[in-house]
Amino acid sequence: MLKFGKSAGALLSQKADFFSDNDRLQAELSKIGAVYKQQPLRKTCKCCDAPLSGASFTKQEIAYTICDRCGHLSGAHEDTDAFCAAVYTAAGGADYAKTYTAQDREAYRSRVSGIYAPKAEFLGEALTEQGEDPASLRYADFGAGSGYFVAAMRDAGWTSSTGYEVSSVQTNLANQMIAPGAVVQHELDDTVSMAGEIEADVVSMIGVLEHVQHPRDILAALKRNPNVRYFFISIPLLSTSVVLESIFPKVFQRQLSAGHTHLFTEKSIDWVCREFGLERAAEWWFGTDMVDLFRSVLVELERNSETRDLSPMWRETIVPMIDDMQMLLDRRKLSSEVHMLLRFKD
Ligand SMILES: [Zn+2]
Repeated sequence: MLKFGKSAGALLSQKADFFSDNDRLQAELSKIGAVYKQQPLRKTCKCCDAPLSGASFTKQEIAYTICDRCGHLSGAHEDTDAFCAAVYTAAGGADYAKTYTAQDREAYRSRVSGIYAPKAEFLGEALTEQGEDPASLRYADFGAGSGYFVAAMRDAGWTSSTGYEVSSVQTNLANQMIAPGAVVQHELDDTVSMAGEIEADVVSMIGVLEHVQHPRDILAALKRNPNVRYFFISIPLLSTSVVLESIFPKVFQRQLSAGHTHLFTEKSIDWVCREFGLERAAEWWFGTDMVDLFRSVLVELERNSETRDLSPMWRETIVPMIDDMQMLLDRRKLSSEVHMLLRFKD
């Protein structure tokens, strides 16, 4: 099953702060980038573990290398324990007791239906095509965050869907929005052992595999777990967005910065499949490169008093074309991300 494109409408309405709050968001990324630059140099490819040669390019004073062996893009520094703690767990205890308003609940539901329900629908179609009954399978969503994907899976009628998340703030939000126990909080150090033992037919990582400290260990653990037959991922790719970020240094760097210290390529996905005994069961190529182009130009137009008057024209011209422009990239598998259902070979 091969699918291309998705309308950017939901994304444009969900990510309004990417436009309105650019400078604050980019300042946060710069802080994380400063921590990353202090970490020791990475010696081997994040994907295939081959020794890394010299830099292929630099962006925001960070060097990146495309692996000679597997084609993966790795940042020059290690994502050490200190780096991961700074990015992922530092704020874990804050606001734990926060209660959520009806407005929060409405925003939550709208994010589930606009962004996550289509992912669950795609997964359901792909599993059906594999001869499975999606409603009878067990699902474990790793790095579940605030539980949006778990909510979408439960909405689809897949009652045995549970999320696993390291942030207590996000776990708490998920369980208030979905149901108690929908997302289970765990320690970061337990991720690999959980992957080896989890009792689930389908393990999903939606925008998560690129963030984990030891993706190879997780893949190896999933491979040796006899319960897990499918691995559903959404991963970011080395794409046009990276080039756009290079020429718009003050615009929020969504694709290659902060927690994204490395990016997949089609070639490195093939490497992962070969090494860990996986095969592609279904692919959905769609990206946000053209939303990034629209956003980058708009942010810069509006920053400058001399160019600000051009921004309405830019918005009116580009927004109606974004989906068509992006589809050209998606069909060539040049999008900024891909969703894939991978199947473990017997
Ligand atoms: Zn490699």
